[in-house]
Amino acid sequence: MSQFTPENNVLVGTIPDVKPIILPTDNPFTSRVMQFEKMRITAPEELHITIDFWIQLTEVARLIFKESDIAKPVLNAEHPFLNDDALLQYLPTVLKAVLVELQKKPLTDEVQKVTKELSQLADDVIIDYGRVLLGYTDTEIAKEFQLFLSIALKIVYVKSAILAELPELEVEQGFHHCPMCGDAPIASVIDPMDNGLRYLLCNLCETKWHKVRSTCHNCSNTGKIELLSVEGQESVMKTENCPECKTYIKHIDRTKNPMLDVYVEDLATLSLDFTLAEDDHQRKSFNLYLR
Ligand SMILES: [Zn+2]
Ligand SMILES: [Zn+2]
Repeated sequence: MSQFTPENNVLVGTIPDVKPIILPTDNPFTSRVMQFEKMRITAPEELHITIDFWIQLTEVARLIFKESDIAKPVLNAEHPFLNDDALLQYLPTVLKAVLVELQKKPLTDEVQKVTKELSQLADDVIIDYGRVLLGYTDTEIAKEFQLFLSIALKIVYVKSAILAELPELEVEQGFHHCPMCGDAPIASVIDPMDNGLRYLLCNLCETKWHKVRSTCHNCSNTGKIELLSVEGQESVMKTENCPECKTYIKHIDRTKNPMLDVYVEDLATLSLDFTLAEDDHQRKSFNLYLR
């Protein structure tokens, strides 16, 4: 049996249903390290210090992700299904493990100083900072702390999403935010196993959820979405721009190369962000590596 789906007009073979939610399955930092290393090869020399730091941090995240002891989460009855209070309890331990591992690496003086300051934070302060990153309060967090806290929070949320029971849902819900954790999507993706369907990918827990192509990720626009790519560059990453709410999201088709990483490709296409900022377009989620 094969069928046409109206939204993408392609033959999808024998797949009976669209999966509304696809939970992450693998350690996401493994391929991210490799993609950063690839990026470094062609990057201009003046970016090497920054990229080396991203590689160090992502290597540490890969290890702590593997080693951290996180229990299968008890889901909320309604979306977002992951329980923030329960997950935040892991944040101090995970952050400290990241800092200990990072301090074994050759760090710049600046990074060394920040990791020392972070190591001295009390657990309840770290949990409060986690709540700020999740949008509960808008207390200020020192700019230089944000990337480390974001990485630790990501480790906790992705690992919890991997361990979670898949919630049963109707496909038609068309979430604007992640059904698992409530965060905004970092990008929309088309992956090889997903039958040409477009999914939004969560900026925090890396869950994917189905959203019909040609609908805006942010507003109720189901009409026209404009695509923009880097001029003169064969980039697989484009932007989807909504003319109604003037919001855009990065889009990547990974059907030919499933190894491509949304965070790395996003950083490689920052010129698109500059172009769209000049045109008053906004973006709802930001790449944590730029924090
Ligand atoms: Zn999420
Ligand atoms: Zn819109």
